Amino acid sequence: MNEFFSPLLDPQHAKEHIDQFPSPQGPRSLYDSVCYCNRCNVCAQSCPTFRLKQDEFFSPRGRNQIVRLVLEGKFKIAPYRQEIENSMASCLLCGACAAACPGKTPTAEHVLEMQRALKSRPLPILLYKILSWRTSAPQLFEVVLNIGRLARNIGLIKLMRISQMTRLPFLRWINHADDILPKKTQFLHHYLHQQTPPHNPDVFYLPSFEAAYLDGSLGLAAWQKLQAKHPQVLWGLSSGLFEYVYGSVRRARYAAQKLIIAAGTGTAPVVTDSADVFFFIKNYPRLFARHKTWEKKARRLAERVRFIGEYLPKQAAAEKYGRVQLDRSALFNFEQDAFEKTEKKFRFIFKKNLLHYGYRDTPTPPFGYAFRKGNLAQEVCFCRVKDIARTQTDTVFFLSGLSALELNYWLKKYYPGAKAEHIVRLNG
Ligand code: SF4
Ligand code: SF4
Repeated sequence: MNEFFSPLLDPQHAKEHIDQFPSPQGPRSLYDSVCYCNRCNVCAQSCPTFRLKQDEFFSPRGRNQIVRLVLEGKFKIAPYRQEIENSMASCLLCGACAAACPGKTPTAEHVLEMQRALKSRPLPILLYKILSWRTSAPQLFEVVLNIGRLARNIGLIKLMRISQMTRLPFLRWINHADDILPKKTQFLHHYLHQQTPPHNPDVFYLPSFEAAYLDGSLGLAAWQKLQAKHPQVLWGLSSGLFEYVYGSVRRARYAAQKLIIAAGTGTAPVVTDSADVFFFIKNYPRLFARHKTWEKKARRLAERVRFIGEYLPKQAAAEKYGRVQLDRSALFNFEQDAFEKTEKKFRFIFKKNLLHYGYRDTPTPPFGYAFRKGNLAQEVCFCRVKDIARTQTDTVFFLSGLSALELNYWLKKYYPGAKAEHIVRLNG
């Protein structure tokens, strides 16, 4: 099929592209993988963007067909670039379609590959630059974040908003960041700086971006769940998920290599508080398909990675949470394991008060989706809030801190009776 490959999606460009896509039959090339979509449309009703728009361009089937036709050279990018970009940028990468698909077609992965090929810049450039410094210039990143935190604490950001400075196109993202972040943001460092790192840790704790830098109390709650196992925190490291989604495969590999080296060759589990990061590390070997030594190392880390849900208490003061939902949003959610294990625990704790989360329930947009160009975050979140109000849910638990922050903002706006929490907050 090589003669069909558009030069933009040529898998020979190993640095910028991924060349193995997960399928139930094992790793596949992009073309093979996209051809598994037989256009049956079973997934349509599971896709939040299709339900909103009722337009093929916003459906999993439509997105797969765009990638396939571009690969076959039957759909020229130039005249339809804007439409294609909108179709790809509006995908939540939630993977709800893959979970519903009989062939488990990984549409979110195809969408990302198309975005890499189009070299679209989904995030505002200033925000992208700052966030990419997390792996390329970690010290500068912390300085910039500290300046932002200080500006917020002394009311400078509020002043910028009142004076309408944040209406400038390259500063517009500040409005939403200011809206969703907790009133006082604190680094995880701040809470744990007096802890001496253990000599023989039984586990490593890899804090997510939000737990390390945006809401340190979330990281502290996760760390406390692991405290009996003498956790060693893996400071200043990223899984590479941000780079994978917004940057390039090459940068994601670089971040992953740093993490693999820091975690060492031992057998201690590496625990993370974000389901998105957990799924991504589970799929590390694909990043190194052409680098046999690193692939082996990546596989070993993928076997060691654990989700914090496994370390939750078996008992909790269930009555204080009222009617509860466990939100299933996460990037590339075609591996259901982390959810199922957590759901089992929640079913035991909350019994009848744990409400069913069906495949047609809207997932909350994950991982900074609301900052992407062409996103449908407002409409999607509004649907999510309607689901919550309809079922009279009191608490929505999340497996990722960023989604909880996002939904809390919309809940405060439209349905303040309910709140969103990360699962590590169970029991306070
Ligand atoms: S992604 Fe799967 S469910 Fe959706 S149209 Fe393609 S084959 Fe059918
Ligand atoms: S990943 Fe989510 S938003 Fe994207 S096509 Fe699939 S269901 Fe729709």
